Amino acid sequence: MLETSLITYLTVGFLGAILGSFLLHEYDNYGNAKNRLKLRSVCDHCGKQLSAKNLIPIFSFLVQGGRSTCCNKKLSNKYLISEIGLASFFMVCLYFDNLTSIGLLFPALLLIALIDEKFKEIPLVLNLYLLLWIALNSNVGENLISAALVGLFLLFLYWSYLFIKKTEGLGLGDIILLISISLYYGFPEIFYLITISSCLLLLKIIISQKYKEQHAFGSWIVLTFGTFILFQEFYGFAG
Ligand SMILES: [Zn+2]
Repeated sequence: MLETSLITYLTVGFLGAILGSFLLHEYDNYGNAKNRLKLRSVCDHCGKQLSAKNLIPIFSFLVQGGRSTCCNKKLSNKYLISEIGLASFFMVCLYFDNLTSIGLLFPALLLIALIDEKFKEIPLVLNLYLLLWIALNSNVGENLISAALVGLFLLFLYWSYLFIKKTEGLGLGDIILLISISLYYGFPEIFYLITISSCLLLLKIIISQKYKEQHAFGSWIVLTFGTFILFQEFYGFAG
């Protein structure tokens, strides 16, 4: 860790800031196919085309004093927060030597949670990204049977609910997510994880007293998964 130079930290931080900017734009434009997979390009207030010097992560915001150069209106703090947030998160991960494990996992988990809470769905591309991360960071072959059992059980629940109530009780996105996590953990951890995330969701429904509304489950699953991963990384329990 000592040999990691300042240049490496700055580069990693800068990449984090660009990623933060990109992910925020993806989140803001979710469901709007025209603006997907692009960086921010126009002013939020007047719609004027932004130039490259307005789009340097963190610096542009600070140099412009948090205001747009075209119409001099206040820029949302979300830009600075997401860029500094991911830049510092990446640098902390570099320091602890887990940039490719935790560093590449948590932004995806956060995005899944935010999109699921807002739109009640998990984007397939994020589910596939997570599956890829799991394939690269664990011994998937070990837990194939656990994952198959979890998948069959959840599909059984899904079809039963659909048959009885004529509506989805559980999203297919949640099922894919749980099958992926089963590949990572296997039994009995996946059982604990499903129990804890279900309890958290139930608790949220009881506290908010919104019994009839649709609630996101994926956000609670990734929250629990993220917590498990952190414990495993720093205290070295099962996995
Ligand atoms: Zn403007």
